[in-house]
Amino acid sequence: MTYVAGVDIGGTSVKIGIINREGDILHKWSIPTNTDQVETIIPDVWASIQTNMQMINLPIAKLAGIGVGAPGFIDSKNGLVHEAVNIGWKNYNLTDHLSQLSGVPVFLENDANIAALGENWKGAGNGALNVIAITLGTGVGGGIISNGMIISGQNGTAGEIGHMTVNPSGYLCNCGRKGCLETIVSATGIARQADAYQMAHPESLLAQRNRENGVLTAKDVFDLAQINDEGAQSIVDHTVDVLGFALANAAILLNPEKILIGGGVSKAGQPLIEGIKSAFQTYALPHVSDVCTIHLAQLGNDAGIIGGAFLVQENEA
Ligand SMILES: [Zn+2]
Repeated sequence: MTYVAGVDIGGTSVKIGIINREGDILHKWSIPTNTDQVETIIPDVWASIQTNMQMINLPIAKLAGIGVGAPGFIDSKNGLVHEAVNIGWKNYNLTDHLSQLSGVPVFLENDANIAALGENWKGAGNGALNVIAITLGTGVGGGIISNGMIISGQNGTAGEIGHMTVNPSGYLCNCGRKGCLETIVSATGIARQADAYQMAHPESLLAQRNRENGVLTAKDVFDLAQINDEGAQSIVDHTVDVLGFALANAAILLNPEKILIGGGVSKAGQPLIEGIKSAFQTYALPHVSDVCTIHLAQLGNDAGIIGGAFLVQENEA
């Protein structure tokens, strides 16, 4: 029996797991991402894999490979991080570095893509062949699985649904363009909608909460919508409408069996999913929506490390 390591690199911490061939996590932990000395991040990861495998009495010789997810622009074919702005890597051959240290095969993907693979393997996807996965967090990530394989595209940018333009004259996005999906439906985007509302409606509950806390969050919006606050509900309605619209357009390109919704914003749960479903039905071609179901992601923070393990198995096959 051999095992694989899944590694999910983020701007503040690296999540790591030792995973068996069925996709069960035997052991998981995280280490800080040392962004002050970026050249030490991968040696740190390898040292901690060795220490932790020893801790659970697994010989290093049983490690068959490492699957890594990293943020930013990733060239998975060449194992290269083109640019990861929030970490500080530029043109860094991560897979060469880690496979030289470890002596095992290393595979790299964009972090949203490995989360999609993990969620589809052991979470809400249930091994579907054609899937759109979207992560609603501080930003909006996406991954597309076609015929069981993650789509990377020509230079690793495929599936970046957060940067689909939904309003050409909208807010400025981090990518430098205007009106991307993530400027509206990310946690940041929802908070910005709430802020605009409270300024226009100083008597509203949102304005009251803003005065109390000095800030409004996406959670405030969903909490107040739950108690039927009109302003909060209007923001939720707009958010799910834009999401349903974007997903209907994405779905026409893939004809997916499932759409999986994850990330911090998805903690709003079933009311969010029901709203997205209804908007999706409104905008999608019936032939597309008839065969497509929309689900909440189930794996939370474990999706990335499980997807990393899946990536190793997919490349071994
Ligand atoms: Zn953008």
